[in-house]
Amino acid sequence: MTTQQPPAWSLDDAQTMYAMDVWGDGFFSINDKGNVCVKPIEGMDISVDINDVIAEALAEGSTLPLILRFQDIISSRVKRLNRKFREAIEGAGYEGVYRSIFPIKVNQLQEVVAEVIEAGREFDIGVECGSKAELMAALPMIGSDTLMLCNGVKDHVMLTMMLNAQQLGQQVIPIIEKYSEFEQLMILADQRELKPRLGVRVKLNTRGAGRWYESGGARSKFGLTVPELVRLVKILEKRGQGDCLELLHFHLGSQISDIQVLRSAVKEITQIYADLVLRGVSVKFLDVGGGLGVNYGGDYDNPESSINYGLREYANVVVYAVKEICDERGVPVPTLLSESGRALTAHHSMLVVPVLGVHRPDSPPMHDETPPDSPSVVSRMETAYEEARSTDVTGILLECYHDAREAREEADQLMRLGYMTLDQLAHTDSLYWSTCREVLQKLAAAQLTPPPTEQLELEEQLTDLYLCDFSVFHSIIDHWAIQQVFPVMPLHRLQERPDRRAQVVDLTCDSDGKIDQYVHGHSNTSWLPLHSHKHGDAYHIGIFLVGAYQEILGDAHNLLGRVDEVHVYAKEDETGNFWIEETLKGICIKDMLSQVQYFPNDLDRRMSELIRKQINAGVIKAAEGTRILNNYTKRLDESTYCTTEVVR
Ligand SMILES: *Cc1c(COP(=O)(O)O)cnc(C)c1O
Repeated sequence: MTTQQPPAWSLDDAQTMYAMDVWGDGFFSINDKGNVCVKPIEGMDISVDINDVIAEALAEGSTLPLILRFQDIISSRVKRLNRKFREAIEGAGYEGVYRSIFPIKVNQLQEVVAEVIEAGREFDIGVECGSKAELMAALPMIGSDTLMLCNGVKDHVMLTMMLNAQQLGQQVIPIIEKYSEFEQLMILADQRELKPRLGVRVKLNTRGAGRWYESGGARSKFGLTVPELVRLVKILEKRGQGDCLELLHFHLGSQISDIQVLRSAVKEITQIYADLVLRGVSVKFLDVGGGLGVNYGGDYDNPESSINYGLREYANVVVYAVKEICDERGVPVPTLLSESGRALTAHHSMLVVPVLGVHRPDSPPMHDETPPDSPSVVSRMETAYEEARSTDVTGILLECYHDAREAREEADQLMRLGYMTLDQLAHTDSLYWSTCREVLQKLAAAQLTPPPTEQLELEEQLTDLYLCDFSVFHSIIDHWAIQQVFPVMPLHRLQERPDRRAQVVDLTCDSDGKIDQYVHGHSNTSWLPLHSHKHGDAYHIGIFLVGAYQEILGDAHNLLGRVDEVHVYAKEDETGNFWIEETLKGICIKDMLSQVQYFPNDLDRRMSELIRKQINAGVIKAAEGTRILNNYTKRLDESTYCTTEVVR
């Protein structure tokens, strides 16, 4: 018999296995140590080993799970988007400019918004807000040159604040979503004898593609119909205030999966723009909304996770379509705006989750002596296992598997009827899994195409569950809510071939608390190759591209809450090429409990009463009671997640 050498394994293979080229966007790769590293600064080769960042964060008192924010990536993405538009504008000979507008709902964290504004300063970037709280957060953040657009439902309180901002000289433009907002705005403006600046969101006939297609089209809950737009324009004209209408806007929904849909919408709105300009309403801005997609990897059949275009094509489609129609209609081109959110922030943050333990279906293997008085099914299982071990012939392997499967069913029935002892059942069960593993290993080595259905069945049965310290519902809720795929991979040991088939499950007591779609090579699979893990050893898994929407949408299922985070900058002259600018603690147990009306004082009081009663009754000694109480109290200040420490 020849011993089969496993095929050679290289870091390139790891890079391909986890499809880093598809989703990494040039930021993420693997270094010589087999560790995932990041090159966050556009155009510079400064590489930061993610494991060094984790080590330093832990040394400074952070605990896992941990969000790492690479602030430089935000800046790189802002620059990349704006430069692509500049190139498109130059290439097309477009006699106007582009400004990107950051919708803060994507990630309202102050540092994130500040980083976007800072990086976008040279490109005149603006911001967008969609609610009262967002408006109040953003107003004091912007200078007098920053364009700020206000979408969403607006009451008179918000409209007043927007007019106040205009009085102060800020470039704040309410985007009328409902006709009544226009009426309210004009009343408020008249009371103050102001000429308001405003924009209009138009309900286009073009519908978005993908999950959020209802954000556009006639059934959308947002925007004015064309008759409403005309009515609004006529009223402004009658007042001699046609120039108040400065902006036309549409939004097709997030993660536009098909660029043709965007092209069609841009053409539609540009025709409306041209008509307005020709009748004397000189609209300045054309805003193509959000929806610029991010490639999370995987196949194109999953529109939530992949897109059929890049930044360059997106910019070209917008610029050329607007120019073509403006040229045809003989009107000057507008200033172009896009409200790209996801595309600016998704890449910058990642979640580090430690593996707490592994549940292997086939463990522990126990091939002891046959228990006494075993029924014949036990020896049939033993035979199946022996045969599987001694053959390489596909047909015989499949037969062994069939026999084992049948024997297991029979053993199960005998147990129910009381004809099998626990020892006998454990022995049979263990042999069943060993047979499965033997058969699968040999079938996989034979590389049959297509693989027999038994092989697929075995792969599913033999997938390990990797229990990880996080909550799907808190940190990647879109995976649960809309089956979005996020890139997941180990952060170290990549010089070793990952030899386990694994599914990542979280801490929640919810069977949906798992990751069941992975980017794996060029397709999506329900399992991911991971390295084998020994309880107590550090094995860290990264979940990437979580910088858009996930944190703020996340919930508190099982009272697992906000995780610790660190903000990292790359810098060449620092040890490891990075420095941690800020460390934020996640929510502690007592704050989490207060949100559901359990207050620390009350909990402490009840706990000490309970303990005192047992001391008085002589159940425990007083000193032990104090220790138990102190331990309880101390933990209230700690993280809602598990510790990775194990007792030795
Ligand atoms: C959500 C939203 C955006 C941002 O969309 P992305 O897909 O993140 O780019 C932009 N504009 C409006 C009106 C929105 O509602």
